[in-house]
Amino acid sequence: MRSHLLNDTTAERYRRSVTEGIERVAAKLATTDRPFTGVTVDALTPRIEQIDLDRPLHDTTAVLDELEEVYLRDAVYFHHPRYLAHLNCPVVIPALLGEAVLSAVNSSLDTWDQSAGGTLIERKLIDWTAERIGLGPAADGVFTSGGTQSNLQALLLAREEAKAGSLATLRVFASEVSHFSVRKSAKLLGLSADSVVSVPVDHDKRMQTLALAHELERCARDGLIPMAVVATAGTTDFGSIDPLPEIAELCARFGAWMHVDAAYGCGLLASLRRRALLDGIERADSVTVDYHKSFFQPVSSSAVLVRDAATLRHATYHAEYLNPRRMVHERIPNQVDKSLQTTRRFDALKLWMTLRTMGADGIGRLFDEVCDLAEEGWKLLAADPRYDVVVEPRLSTLVFRYIPRAVTDPAEIDRANLYARKALFASGDAVVASTKADGRHYLKFTLLNPETSAADIAAVLDLIAGHAEQYLGESLDRAS
Ligand SMILES: *Cc1c(COP(=O)(O)O)cnc(C)c1O
Repeated sequence: MRSHLLNDTTAERYRRSVTEGIERVAAKLATTDRPFTGVTVDALTPRIEQIDLDRPLHDTTAVLDELEEVYLRDAVYFHHPRYLAHLNCPVVIPALLGEAVLSAVNSSLDTWDQSAGGTLIERKLIDWTAERIGLGPAADGVFTSGGTQSNLQALLLAREEAKAGSLATLRVFASEVSHFSVRKSAKLLGLSADSVVSVPVDHDKRMQTLALAHELERCARDGLIPMAVVATAGTTDFGSIDPLPEIAELCARFGAWMHVDAAYGCGLLASLRRRALLDGIERADSVTVDYHKSFFQPVSSSAVLVRDAATLRHATYHAEYLNPRRMVHERIPNQVDKSLQTTRRFDALKLWMTLRTMGADGIGRLFDEVCDLAEEGWKLLAADPRYDVVVEPRLSTLVFRYIPRAVTDPAEIDRANLYARKALFASGDAVVASTKADGRHYLKFTLLNPETSAADIAAVLDLIAGHAEQYLGESLDRAS
């Protein structure tokens, strides 16, 4: 069994084993003709259930053959141009190389004595990101597992900086289309059930700053404390970007911590043509970035950045066995001092390999391409009488709904759209998402694949219309 441990004597086995796995995936990528097979839960469950985990196969090839049956064959493939559903990107190869290196060396980024150079690489990437944002010389941050954790940590710092007598008096302001992790964070942070104030959005799904100002005034009048305003730079559903400069003004006026959730929009930091959309982000107290969304990185790769490194102390705890206080004086960089996690992956290496291979411009060009594609898709939808489209995209999402001429009952239209999404998923021809807008069911494309073309979008719109029409036809038959 020792032969399975990675060390000097097993290097050759490691090479063969991993190469064999990579060959399988490469073969899969080359032959995948649909984003999904349409497999059902009921079909897949018994295949996994029947496997006896107490009877190992002892053979890499056999294990990979089995993996083909239980996973690879029916996985959802984000690299396929007709995967258009969620904020998942196809990944860039330099990052995969980083992934292979980081998991084999298995550094843990909590302390210097578990990572050495890894710590410095992560710090340099944090500095690089903070500089792109424009946070100033005192900025810092740390890699996290994802935007959810980044938002939680940012709000933790905001809560501690608010120095309230009672948690019940704290209020967080976020738009009605902000990410649900803001509310989840508020709960985890012990804030009251009504702590998150939902600020209405305008026609373009951007926070209404006049409404925000009213809410902040009301907050002050009621003797409550404006702990933070969360501005979303790239809402998950619409890609809309809240008016950052105006929000920064209001935060300064009312003494609120400004957090920018740029989990999605952070790709603009590398964009060659759209960086201006993030103007105002440099005034944030904290920023969430998800490299695993718009930097084409594998999950997970994310960070939280802060304007003032000193605020990270709110996450600092010392343990004698790991990061004793004296190490701070010895100037030993222990990243655990800034993190909510302890043992932590060296995810930063993926971004490092990416920037060293392609450069930021390479990433920015890919993101610009998908934003261009969304503009094309919007034109297609706006000109197509079969569809209603919600907002002109700033980033790369399109939210739309099939609207049959002959049907006026909005609930029936809802059902037709939901049916079309399900039927499309079951066919595996394409994968799209759904969401609600103005109380009605809509469908959503999240375009993050530069390989997707306008022709793909047109073809998927035809497929959706076909499924929706089939549903409506059958429902007419049922009624008559
Ligand atoms: C995706 C997303 C999050 C959550 O990020 P995870 O990496 O999925 O945890 C937070 N905010 C916004 C705006 C997002 O789009």
